[in-house]
Amino acid sequence: MATALYRRYRPESFAELIGQAHVTDPLRHALSADRVNHAYLFSGPRGCGKTTSARILARCLNCAEGPTDTPCGVCPSCVELSRDGGGSLDVVEIDAASHNGVDDARDLRERAVFAPARDRYKIFILDEAHMVTQQGFNALLKIVEEPPEHVKFIFATTEPEKVIGTIRSRTHHYPFRLVPPSELLTYIEQVCSSEGVNVEEGVLPLVVRAGGGSVRDTLSVLDQLIAGSPDPTVTYDHAIGLLGYTHGELLAEVMTALASGVGSDTFHALHKVIHTGQDPRRFGEDLLEYVRDLIIVDQAGQEAGELLPGTSAATLEGMRSLAQGMGTPTLSSMADVMAEALASMTGATSPTLHLELLMARLLVSRGQAAVTAPVAPSRPVVAEPAQLVQEPSPPVPAPTPEVAADAPPAHPLSEAAMIDAWPEILEAIGEKKRGVWSALVGTEVMGLEEDVVTIGFPSLTSAELLKKPQGPGLAANAELVREAILATTGHRVRFKVQELPTTEPTPGEALAVEEVAPASEAAGSWPTVLPPQAEAASPPEEVEPLVEPEVPTGPVAGELSQVGEAVIREVLGGELISEKRIDEEN
Ligand SMILES: [Zn+2]
Repeated sequence: MATALYRRYRPESFAELIGQAHVTDPLRHALSADRVNHAYLFSGPRGCGKTTSARILARCLNCAEGPTDTPCGVCPSCVELSRDGGGSLDVVEIDAASHNGVDDARDLRERAVFAPARDRYKIFILDEAHMVTQQGFNALLKIVEEPPEHVKFIFATTEPEKVIGTIRSRTHHYPFRLVPPSELLTYIEQVCSSEGVNVEEGVLPLVVRAGGGSVRDTLSVLDQLIAGSPDPTVTYDHAIGLLGYTHGELLAEVMTALASGVGSDTFHALHKVIHTGQDPRRFGEDLLEYVRDLIIVDQAGQEAGELLPGTSAATLEGMRSLAQGMGTPTLSSMADVMAEALASMTGATSPTLHLELLMARLLVSRGQAAVTAPVAPSRPVVAEPAQLVQEPSPPVPAPTPEVAADAPPAHPLSEAAMIDAWPEILEAIGEKKRGVWSALVGTEVMGLEEDVVTIGFPSLTSAELLKKPQGPGLAANAELVREAILATTGHRVRFKVQELPTTEPTPGEALAVEEVAPASEAAGSWPTVLPPQAEAASPPEEVEPLVEPEVPTGPVAGELSQVGEAVIREVLGGELISEKRIDEEN
């Protein structure tokens, strides 16, 4: 029986350890300068080399030529502590998960008193150190505090905060990290070639992804793929099937269909996914990741290959044409919609239905983004009831502070000019304030009426930033936007924000999927979830009151509170206390 890959490839020196240079370099310096501490704490996620490093450190310390940062590999200690060695008497590994009590700690303390059998140090490696009980640590405290000359401790743990502070403060703490994908990819390429295993293109990136940054997990996945492969070459199809990822071609097909905005293509592609037995949630995640890759390809141009290691030139070329066709703003807002849908898919009764609805939403947002709608959509699309429930008292969202416009400009600004100028305006904002610029990524000019520009945001949460002041006592960030518009177009305008059209159908209202197909038309008849009263009071624009702004007084206030009550009754099924009181007075 073959030993597992991760055991056969367990590093024997710090030089062989990948992805942890920030830890191993200082350790090696300490070793070569002979400034070794008596206790170490290695922390970090599982499978990233803590225990292995502890063994390597022990090997370095006890090498006959040592202490050294490169163990000789031939002395008895080095041989015993090599990956095939049987272990050394002077290096004691304790699994704290099963030896965590006071008795074990006392036992360890007694053993530590004796001098090493042969080598320089008696080294105790406590794996899973966070499992040691409070009493166990207390029993250890004395010896960790003032150990005999010949004793070294190495604690390894995934949860350093559970190691009591008094112990922790006596150790040198080295935090290990997950290994970056590119490094892992290079590493498993080497492993494959030294194992003489052929893998098809695209397999190794999947392995790295499945390993999640842990070297051990990654090698285990690779091991499993190699072991289970019916062919001498590990095929992409085999990897996809075993790891449960979506086939790249299928992702490209769905995305191409979405890009073309043709509903029938999209749902054909989607049904292909569902009929292959793909987990809908997993597919959603894969699609989101694919969109991320497309954004990278669109942004990085020729350098995308470096950022997406393991992707072939042909695949990249396909992705490039897809990405350029859609553009980063569209892709980015699609990603938002997907991320939101994925979050709500957890525990959903019918994830497939959710997936179909997600496709519909993507189609609709795509269709509407393409038609740079001059007029705001006839139906309100945003304003989730959740928001209203949270803040029932003022059902109308707070108005954005608006500065009155200057004298009307001589030549009115045209909508087309405004749309054309928008990228330049964004650039100008980016030069002034990066944070505001990033809040505006993916925005579009949706319309211009008189001197009010409607700016469409993929999500209104990012628009919130515009209401915030630029600094203590300064005007709001919105003013920065107005200034940039003035500087670029020569027109002082006002603006309002609106969410870029996406629809929010309730899961209960299962739409017949085909109805959705002609995206832009479907939008108008899309069902919304607002209670009718609230709808009347809060029109689509979140920041609507800017044209007739300001504090509701007199009868208006009464009207508003009426609406507020109505919302509470409608949404919460509650009654206002004041309502009763008024009745009593009457
Ligand atoms: Zn040696």
